[in-house]
Amino acid sequence: MSKITTLAGVCGWPIHHSLSPVLHNFWLKELGLGGAYVHFAVRPDEAVRAFKSLKRTSISGVNVTLPLKSLAYEAADEQTPDAIKLGVSNCLYKKDGKLIAHNTDLEGFAVPLIKAMGAKTLSQTPALIIGTGGAARAVIGALLALNVPEIRIIGRTDIKAEALVDIVNVPSFYALPWAKRDEAVAASGLIINATAGGMSGKPELDIDIHLAEKGSFVYDLIYTPRHTRLLREAKKAGCMTLGGLEMLIAQARPSFRLFYGHKAPELPDPKEMLFAALKAGQ
Ligand code: NAP
Repeated sequence: MSKITTLAGVCGWPIHHSLSPVLHNFWLKELGLGGAYVHFAVRPDEAVRAFKSLKRTSISGVNVTLPLKSLAYEAADEQTPDAIKLGVSNCLYKKDGKLIAHNTDLEGFAVPLIKAMGAKTLSQTPALIIGTGGAARAVIGALLALNVPEIRIIGRTDIKAEALVDIVNVPSFYALPWAKRDEAVAASGLIINATAGGMSGKPELDIDIHLAEKGSFVYDLIYTPRHTRLLREAKKAGCMTLGGLEMLIAQARPSFRLFYGHKAPELPDPKEMLFAALKAGQ
């Protein structure tokens, strides 16, 4: 029997803030597995070489965060369809001697949303994506896969929303100007915040969520703070809400399975433990 501990980790620059080790080590402990999951600080100018060298180590795989996601994609021998959809990778693993670039953000975003809204309702609900960065790309890919009938996108820099629409080039996906955000909010049954607006230490998001129709669904990808102003106001306005920690957990599950060969346990729910770690300044 091999005495080598299964080692995986998360790469970024900086990386000390990542909660991924807390989550993966929690699951390892719950399952009684002998592996470990650690932070790897990887300089961007050394990243491609570091990723390529994974094949010559006993590290089973790594998650990848900012600013290394494009470099991880480039460094791999092959990319999975989900990674190709997004053009970046947040998960590198080894298969048959090859380094594979995957992206778990599509699944991570979609799984909690399907659980909360149901696939049928989703396929009948027009959506609004606020934000035009990396997270918004995962949201677009997931909503298209879920057959959401109409997907609007807005961003405080209009040109970025228009550029995404040009790239995706699907009739059901279109941009609205930031100046028309009130109308967009009022007309969408699913509203997703994929911006950093409202994150702890960052300026608030300038969106009037009270204009949303009662019963609309508001999904904020931010998880610090736990209850963003957007979610608090949305609740007051009679909307259903979902916070970003659900996505954080759901995007980690497929990585765990790839790295350790076991399904992450559904219970106990790691949410409270993650919030405690966030509070303690992890
Ligand atoms: P990103 O690529 O840097 O994009 C940030 C986006 O936010 C841009 O569209 C930016 O607009 C916009 N923005 C920033 N501050 C804003 C404000 N005050 N008002 C309006 N728009 C604002 O970042 P990202 O990777 O897409 O991440 C976006 C958010 O999603 C972050 O809060 C991140 O924590 C969260 N996220 C959560 C998970 C999860 O697992 N829960 C996963 C990924 C991301 P400009 O381009 O005009 O500056």
